[in-house]
Amino acid sequence: MKQTIRLSDLIGNVVSKMEAQKATFGPFDTHISQKANLDQVNQVLDTLITRLEDNYPYFHPQYAAQMLKPAHPVAQAAYVAAMMLNPNNHSIDGGRATTYMEREVMKDMATMFGYDPENFLGHLTWSGTTANLEALWISREINPGKAIAHSSDAHYVHGRMGEVLNVPTVAIPTDNRGRMDLVALEERLKAGDIGVVVATLGTTGLGAVDPLADIIPLARKYGARVHVDGAYGGYFILIPDVLDDETNRHYAAIKDADSVVVDPHKHGLQPYGCGAVLFRDRTVGPYYKHDSPYTYFASEDLHYGEIQLETSRAGAAAAALWATLQIFPLTSDGLGSILRPGRQAAQLWYELISKSDVLQPYQKPELDIIVYLAKVPSMSKLDQVSHDTFLNASAGDKTQQTHLATYNVKPAQLLARGIDLVYDRESARIMRSVLMKPEQLALVPELHEHVEEWTRRSM
Ligand SMILES: *Cc1c(COP(=O)(O)O)cnc(C)c1O
Repeated sequence: MKQTIRLSDLIGNVVSKMEAQKATFGPFDTHISQKANLDQVNQVLDTLITRLEDNYPYFHPQYAAQMLKPAHPVAQAAYVAAMMLNPNNHSIDGGRATTYMEREVMKDMATMFGYDPENFLGHLTWSGTTANLEALWISREINPGKAIAHSSDAHYVHGRMGEVLNVPTVAIPTDNRGRMDLVALEERLKAGDIGVVVATLGTTGLGAVDPLADIIPLARKYGARVHVDGAYGGYFILIPDVLDDETNRHYAAIKDADSVVVDPHKHGLQPYGCGAVLFRDRTVGPYYKHDSPYTYFASEDLHYGEIQLETSRAGAAAAALWATLQIFPLTSDGLGSILRPGRQAAQLWYELISKSDVLQPYQKPELDIIVYLAKVPSMSKLDQVSHDTFLNASAGDKTQQTHLATYNVKPAQLLARGIDLVYDRESARIMRSVLMKPEQLALVPELHEHVEEWTRRSM
């Protein structure tokens, strides 16, 4: 039978059990820093709680804006339990239990993407940024002196990490659904100087899926590696039943890509500080070779520090992910059951927007991000209406607020989608919502009504 989870119960339970576990090592005199004026401490914490009010309600389904939501209570409780020891997954010496948990979750992730769980190499990271950096760095080591190709809609980390790695980057244009253009890619590959093609499966802005299944043979033909940035979209591989066939074809090709990144702290129910990178073939291991006179002693086994760029890394993050995956495994009915309603919410909202007299879709959603705009005559009017809608919808009584985000577009991008305006501005904001909370499916009609109403008033 299912009962409502109370976070205070879970946390109270794990804290007292961990305290008991720690006590088995015997008492010791704690330092004066472990004693305090409790009134003062509680005052500080009260102030903290008050200051935290200065945020948008990321947990609430009416927050339909950026890619934000709190970690699942199971992840929060597991994180707290492990944090009470604070293991460091850099080495087995620093975090034995959590290193083994990380191995289990990485094998699960490899299996999810179709990699051989006995032959891949991978680990958790602090973020998608460092996970991508690592994949691009290995690509540079394997194909030195060659450039990184990504789509013009790819996350800015690829251009930035190219600078960090001193590798040139090339932005390949996207088509009218925000996906990498294959003709333009092949044209660029012909120059022979591309070392790796980054395919984004789920762009951060539009949730567009680059045509990976077609990118791989092209890249192979011209000697380039293929890296998949699935920081946001990677987990959608779990729910092919609600994606388009064409989208599924590209998710199914991840198994043939050289590396893939996914962020458990986006769609994997984890607190921030949890990305992941996986390489299909573990023979990239030697590129990480380094000496450490300080750390690797207690085991001949591979330490995560030997195969990652980062050094200290929270064992608690591995514990939180491990615990979450026991409840929500990487299956269609497990974690997939949490992603599916968001995808359905985007489809439903798209249908409502398509029939609206004041709104129109920017494009059909491929995952769970919906992008749309007001029906107005000019770029300047569009920008003003979008911004006013964004501000007005989130004003007023807390229980009536709707939180939305905006997205910048240029005239050519609108024209490519058949939206013809008076181009009196270089760019304009339109509306964007990431529907990543499963509770949002039931709320779509209401959200739509609010947005229509606020758009009408802003016009
Ligand atoms: C979020 C995101 C990143 C950056 O990851 P962080 O975890 O924020 O560092 C990279 N690529 C894509 C596609 C993303 O959505």
